[in-house]
Amino acid sequence: MTTYTICVLPGDGIGPEVTDCAKRVLDSLASLDNGPIFEFETYPAGHGTFISSGNAMPDSTMVAAKKADSVLVGAMDVAQIPSGGGDPLRSLRVGLEVGASVRPSRSIKGVESPADNIDCVIVREVTEGLYSRVEYMVGDDAACAVRIITRKASTKTARMAFEQARLRQKATNPTHNKGRVTAVHKVGALKLTDGLFLESVKSVATEYPDIEYETRNIDACAMEMIREPEHFDVILSTNTFGDILSDVGAGLAAGLGLAASGCIGERWAYFEPVHGTAPDIAGKGIANPCATILSAAMMLRHIGEIDCANSVENAVTTVLGHNEFRTGDLGGTATSSEITGAIIKLLHKS
Ligand code: ATP
Repeated sequence: MTTYTICVLPGDGIGPEVTDCAKRVLDSLASLDNGPIFEFETYPAGHGTFISSGNAMPDSTMVAAKKADSVLVGAMDVAQIPSGGGDPLRSLRVGLEVGASVRPSRSIKGVESPADNIDCVIVREVTEGLYSRVEYMVGDDAACAVRIITRKASTKTARMAFEQARLRQKATNPTHNKGRVTAVHKVGALKLTDGLFLESVKSVATEYPDIEYETRNIDACAMEMIREPEHFDVILSTNTFGDILSDVGAGLAAGLGLAASGCIGERWAYFEPVHGTAPDIAGKGIANPCATILSAAMMLRHIGEIDCANSVENAVTTVLGHNEFRTGDLGGTATSSEITGAIIKLLHKS
């Protein structure tokens, strides 16, 4: 039996509710044969932390995140944190030296969604581009945002995308064995920045002759994802384009309540649902915890607990597919706790 220390940052809004559900699922794995044991250490971060302490990302939280075996994040209301009040997600991404955010989009059998044949992964750079946080006023009537693209970050993200394509090619699921990376850009308008991005990706592509490489304009890609989602395997992009496309993917595959993600680097990683704090349903116990539970499954895979990761993913898709326990976002009436209980029950059925 292996014991792992997990640093949990529940954050704001529905973050604490959904991370509690994921912790219940992870805790339950200890009673499986040779199942892992998890020790959770909860640390403050987010808008609530800013209100109570004046700093949305205390140094002690960052130290704990680096010390733990992995990190699980709920949701953070970063838009409400004033400039100078701390930047939790950026601090995690820069501090943990993550190379990219990996966001799978997969339709689930039995769950109604706009596309029943999407099975792709969006790999997105997360520290630069339009989210570099360099903005300034030019006089009173003009404002500029600086879009930083570096060869180093683009190369790191591209390598993550090609590695994902290889991993998926090796997986036995016949629907996602395409082995293809699609790099998304707008080089016609952004000649220098996306020019450098594409040059960096092309150079990485030569190291992966077994993986097909193609490019798309961001606008064409968004339309093609809707018209022909089955074409895509791994979609690679810069920060903002990747953010938008991952919501397109989540929307095609039954919504934010199921969209998981991992921000992965060479040494550290953290895992979080794609959704935000959902203030409209926070505190009601009705949020869909599946995105966070699936993010925890990605974490299990990353720390090497592959069988447990597969079991958790299968339990989530089976429970959702049976349509007995579904939260309001998927047309059901189940509470977060009820669907979590159903997932745990299924995990221990065999
Ligand atoms: P933020 O400002 O933190 O991004 P938001 O409400 O603008 O929050 P999301 O939290 O991503 O953005 O949610 C958008 C909508 O989707 C909300 O109306 C919310 O009710 C719904 N939603 C998001 N996550 C979930 C979830 N896990 N379960 C159920 N509904 C959700």
